[in-house]
Amino acid sequence: MILKPYVSALFAIALSGAAIASDDHGGPVEARPFKPGITMTRAVQAGITPDGAITILKAGNQRFLANKPLLHNLRRRVTQTALGQFPFASVLACIDSRAAPEVVFDQSVGDIFTARVAGNIVNEDILGSLEYTAKVAGSRLIVVLGHSNCGAIKGACDGVRMGNLTSLLDKISPAVAAVRTEGERSSKKPPVRRRCQRNECATGHPDHPRKKVLCSRTWRTTAKSGSSGRCTILPTEK
Ligand SMILES: [Zn+2]
Repeated sequence: MILKPYVSALFAIALSGAAIASDDHGGPVEARPFKPGITMTRAVQAGITPDGAITILKAGNQRFLANKPLLHNLRRRVTQTALGQFPFASVLACIDSRAAPEVVFDQSVGDIFTARVAGNIVNEDILGSLEYTAKVAGSRLIVVLGHSNCGAIKGACDGVRMGNLTSLLDKISPAVAAVRTEGERSSKKPPVRRRCQRNECATGHPDHPRKKVLCSRTWRTTAKSGSSGRCTILPTEK
C-alpha cells in the first residue's frame, strides 16, 4: 500500500512581545547570532525574531525535502542542554507518525517545543502548555502544524463515535459543519476535508476566539504523494 502523507497545514503566530531575554538573574543578555546546527542558548534565543523563527523552520524543511539533514550530535546536545532549554519555536502537531515536527523541520534536541494530539486540536491543557513555552521559556513562535490525510479530520467529517476519541472529534466537528458544501459532509469529499485541515481544525470553529490567539499568521503545506512533506505558507489570517 502506498501511503500518501504528509504535512499539509501550518498556522503560526509571531510572539514578538512574548519574552524578553534575560540571564539567570533577570538581567539582559547579549544576543548571539543563530547558525544552523547551533545549540540553543538564552543568548541565541534572544537574537531570533518571530520572522527569523519562520525562516529557520523553512530552511529545515528544505533540508528535509532534499534529504540532507544536519548531522545532529545528539549526545552532545543532551549534555549541552541538560541545565536549561531555550527553544526558538513551539509546534502543535498531530500524533501522525509521518508528521513529526523535529523531523520535517530538521531540528534537534533543545530546538523546538512540540505538543502533539490527534487532529492538532486545542484544549485548555494544550493552551496552557503553549503559554508556558511562550511566556516562561521564551519561544518566539507558535506553529499549528496539520497534515494531509489526517485520520482525526476524516473521523470528524464522517461523524465517528468511539470511546474517548469522540470528545476529541467533537472539537473538530464545528469546523466540519461550517464548511459550505452541497450534499453530505464526508471525508470522501476533498473540499470538506481540505478546508477542515487547512485552518479550523486547530480551534474547533472558524469563529472561535482562540483562533485569534493561535492563528494570526498562517502556514500551509501542500499535500504531496509519497514522502515529500513540503511546507508552504498560507496567507496571514487576522
Ligand atoms: Zn492527523
